[in-house]
Amino acid sequence: MPLRLYNTLTRKKETFRPLRDKQVGIYACGPTVYWFAHLGNLRSYVFEDILRRVLEYNDYKVKHVMNITDVGHLTSDEDTGEDKIEKGARKEGKSAREIADFYTEAFFKDIEKLNIEKPRITCKATEHIKEQINLVKILEKKGFTYQISDGVYFNTSKITEYGRLAKLDVEGLRAGARVETVEGKKNSTDFALWKLTPPGVKRQQEWDSPWGKGFPGWHLECSAMSQKYLGTQFDIHCGGIDHIPVHHTNEIAQSQAAYGEIPAKYWIHGEFLLIDGKKMAKSDANIVTIENISKKFNPLAFRYLNLTAHYHSKLNLTWESMEGAQNALDNLYEATREFKSTADFNLGLGKLADSFGLAGKKTRETLKKFREYKEEFTEAVNDDLDTPKALGIAWKLIGDENIPASLKSKLLEDFDRVFGLKLKDIKPIAIPEEVKKMFKERAKARKEKDWVKSDELRQKIENKGWLLEDTPRGTTVKPKK
Ligand code: AMP
Ligand code: ZN
Repeated sequence: MPLRLYNTLTRKKETFRPLRDKQVGIYACGPTVYWFAHLGNLRSYVFEDILRRVLEYNDYKVKHVMNITDVGHLTSDEDTGEDKIEKGARKEGKSAREIADFYTEAFFKDIEKLNIEKPRITCKATEHIKEQINLVKILEKKGFTYQISDGVYFNTSKITEYGRLAKLDVEGLRAGARVETVEGKKNSTDFALWKLTPPGVKRQQEWDSPWGKGFPGWHLECSAMSQKYLGTQFDIHCGGIDHIPVHHTNEIAQSQAAYGEIPAKYWIHGEFLLIDGKKMAKSDANIVTIENISKKFNPLAFRYLNLTAHYHSKLNLTWESMEGAQNALDNLYEATREFKSTADFNLGLGKLADSFGLAGKKTRETLKKFREYKEEFTEAVNDDLDTPKALGIAWKLIGDENIPASLKSKLLEDFDRVFGLKLKDIKPIAIPEEVKKMFKERAKARKEKDWVKSDELRQKIENKGWLLEDTPRGTTVKPKK
């Protein structure tokens, strides 16, 4: 089953076809680093991590690029208000650089706790000022810009398809726009490329440019850095759904105007995390951070909770839902430990599963089941990352009495390449040498039909805390619960 993904650009689930054979380029809009990431932000990064893992599960090599916004993101999407970093710096009595560096590091620590792999490239807006100025120069040369006292603006009326991603009613928007938020803006949808530092003001972060001292508009960094690291067209661009109407719409406008094409083929967006039925947002002061939940929960329980909802659905965070996720995660770990600790003596299936194609009817049947589970799982994750269904398959496998424990643990570890719940770290309980010895003696006694001795040995083994099970496939031994 080929990988299918919902593309916001076409509003359709499409078969994923990469631009370059087995290489996939992803650009994900990263955090604005003026405060700790909240669990809503982190839901978006978990979703992007799952996307990358599913691509890798399908044998693609992924180049994942993420920006770090450390300048230019204003408190209002209307190109007004304060720079969030400078505001944060003032609030904490630190420099803009200190604030940005501190929260960038905090962000990396948070994603590590959620087992989100750090993107291959993380790039800061402040380290790509030259690239951003160059992009404005290209846009200026091509006639897409105009300058007003506030800065250099992108003229959205010059793009015929402006707003396609969001299916914006551009005419309606422009006609219905109440007051011009920035004086001199030609269209209400126009946006800043380069903001000039107002006269008499000294910003902490500002740079010289052909248009005067100032700083880049927020959308500009993503067009400039995605082009630098992934080229003018790459495979996937992603982020939260709030990016559709403004940020991604404007990124498309800039890149299309400068380079002639929509930068990414697939635009994939994750739904919001809610708390008490409302979007979790820094501005609403309803935020919960990793640190807040860590006292009570394993951060990976939050990751598990994310897997229980499709990325297209809203997910409501409550203490009950976190408790449910923590319980499920504990049970998953316990089952994994049991399977890893169970020795399928006489079966040798652990090895067989690795080297498919061995003879023997029972082995063939078992391996067939192994493949069926793997196919079912692949089908689920390839169907637009259906992780709730994939989790259901994992739980079905756990309860399936026809699959030997050694295969279960192999399959669960294989599924965990997508789930990312660190099942590899679950250590088996080692079978003590004396139990192994008694097990062998018992097998011999059974062969010799010495049932009395065999039962005696079973009892002794149980007294040591290990449970024997004689199955049609052979005898297994596992720790008693
Ligand atoms: P920001 O740091 O505000 O630029 O946001 C970083 C990322 O988090 C963006 O991709 C947003 O779309 C996403 N985001 C913000 N709030 C939420 C939320 N409540 N649920 C899911 N994603 C969110
Ligand atoms: Zn972006």
